[in-house]
Amino acid sequence: MSRRRSFVAGNWKMNLNRAGAVTLARAVREHAASCAGVDCAVFPPFVYLAEVAAALSGSRVRAGAQDVWTEKKGAFTGEVSAEMIRDCGASLVLVGHSERRHVLGEGDDLVARKLRAALDGGLEAILCIGEKLKEREGGSTEAVLGRQFRTAFKDLAPAEFPRVSIAYEPVWAIGTGRNATPAQAQEVHAFVRKLVAERFGPASAEGSRILYGGSVTPENAGELLAGPDVDGVLVGGASLDAAKFAGILDSDRR
Ligand code: PEP
Repeated sequence: MSRRRSFVAGNWKMNLNRAGAVTLARAVREHAASCAGVDCAVFPPFVYLAEVAAALSGSRVRAGAQDVWTEKKGAFTGEVSAEMIRDCGASLVLVGHSERRHVLGEGDDLVARKLRAALDGGLEAILCIGEKLKEREGGSTEAVLGRQFRTAFKDLAPAEFPRVSIAYEPVWAIGTGRNATPAQAQEVHAFVRKLVAERFGPASAEGSRILYGGSVTPENAGELLAGPDVDGVLVGGASLDAAKFAGILDSDRR
């Protein structure tokens, strides 16, 4: 049995309105109260972050931001710093989500700078990595993940690593309804854990939480989470539905 606590996180992306975000946060808060063995977080749009964080205050659910800029302040129109995110009551941030990488064109170096800024600003981070369908079909999944991993962590001190979780999110599985099979997820998670061991040592690898993301639903979450190296899930679409997200929280059987 794994010694790692599971982590179920909901990425709300650019969805909901103000009232809907608060209502959903309250529903998640209520359900998570009965899920003592699972850590839980939600990632609302920036504009609702402070209100969602307030609605979750004192609960088992943490609020996080979907992105962060690399600098503390200044002439960066439209961007938000780690300090601002903390000031909103949030303690976590997603870094390198596939939509930021592939829709908004963020490269590995920018992702690394964002991870640096998040940690320097006192946040914990979920670093997202994942291969595209063509890369998987071309046999380069491990090369792509290795490159994303090594670049993101090139400047990280081992003592900082416990503040980072990793989400393996195959791009071909995000928002497509086509999840990785439990065997595919487990195989890649074991590989990612090996990367952690090489970079930060075996103890860090053993303690590191590696989440799976990509079309997770209440129906498939249990079998995905059964993989010994699958320590949680990062959920997009299904996290917008309180009942479905509750079902995913309930599927953790550790
Ligand atoms: C995500 O946005 O991180 C994600 C995994 O989305 P979905 O669950 O909708 O595939």
